[in-house]
Amino acid sequence: MTTNHEHHTPQQPEAPVTPPEPVLPGHTQGERLTDMFARSISYLRISLTDHCNLRCQYCTPQEGQIKLASEELLSYEEILRVVRIAVSLGIEKVRLTGGEPLVRRDVLVFIKALAEIPGLTDIRLTTNGVLLADYAEALQKAGISKLNISLDTLRPERFRQITGVDAFDRVWAGISKARELGFSPIKLNIVALKGVNDDEFIDFARLTLTEPLQIRFIEFMPIGASALWDKGKYISSQEIMERLKPLGPLEPVEAKRMDGPARIYRFAGAAGSVGFISPISHHFCDRCNRLRLTSEGRLRSCLLSDQETDLRKSLRSGATDEEIRGLIVAAILNKPKGHTISPEGGGSCHGQMSRIGG
Ligand code: SAM
Repeated sequence: MTTNHEHHTPQQPEAPVTPPEPVLPGHTQGERLTDMFARSISYLRISLTDHCNLRCQYCTPQEGQIKLASEELLSYEEILRVVRIAVSLGIEKVRLTGGEPLVRRDVLVFIKALAEIPGLTDIRLTTNGVLLADYAEALQKAGISKLNISLDTLRPERFRQITGVDAFDRVWAGISKARELGFSPIKLNIVALKGVNDDEFIDFARLTLTEPLQIRFIEFMPIGASALWDKGKYISSQEIMERLKPLGPLEPVEAKRMDGPARIYRFAGAAGSVGFISPISHHFCDRCNRLRLTSEGRLRSCLLSDQETDLRKSLRSGATDEEIRGLIVAAILNKPKGHTISPEGGGSCHGQMSRIGG
């Protein structure tokens, strides 16, 4: 349910206000579906594949991880069917993620088909940028104009250490190409890791003074294999902000409706902005408008809770659109009020990041 904040000047008589029709959870209000906690669900994130061309130390276990076979992935037809049904329930925005979405075969053909779904107004992509220089133009033609690019360091050698691949120059070329082509916004996602890249926070933030980029610092989250989590590397958004003080005061920027959970700020006169995504230190669960479709076709209503609905099973055993609709509504109604993950190791999220998509 949405809240209307009406402002009246004291001189004017109060106009009679018709109270909004109460919306039952699981029913659409206008175009949007609400959950049990009055959050309207309008955003679906889709992990297109769990495969990735990088091996980030905090995301992929050292011993490697078991990858899904191609028949275990939802097919493009299956994903398109789920998206059509989800859009009929009020989903307006889709983000393609992974794994690395650009490594899945025929991804451009899929994106074109996605862009033809009536009612889907916003399609975005999260990529590690390794293949971006080659794909950027075609992505734009296919219907994507907004990109999130993950980049945890500005130093080529450190990039290799973090990701296991010597590809910094390719990512930087991808970012430059996207800039040239006019993608907007371009957001760079940096997972903040103490002792790994915290000496570069200032360098990243400084980029926003002259470049129209949004630099987003993401708090490290305990997700997946316990070996990936190191409490000692966690650094809160508050601490990151402290580190940026030498660049001057940060002024808050008003969020737009489709903006995600990042709190956005700007240095005076800067071309770009700085965002903080703080799932651990500042839960934003009360504003969460997301559903996630994992690469093996499970619907997940909270990134940090392992509760999932197996849509693939239903899709492959002849479920009708109405039945799939019912499963999506049920997942929304079961969306947890909030997560319980803390840096101390409370809560649990054992799902593999590459299958969930972040
Ligand atoms: N391959 C694409 C990419 O690199 O952007 C999309 C998938 S990746 C899993 C999505 C995002 O999740 C990336 O920005 C990545 O840095 C972030 N991520 C992965 N593991 C994380 C963790 N434990 N805590 C916080 N962010 C994480």
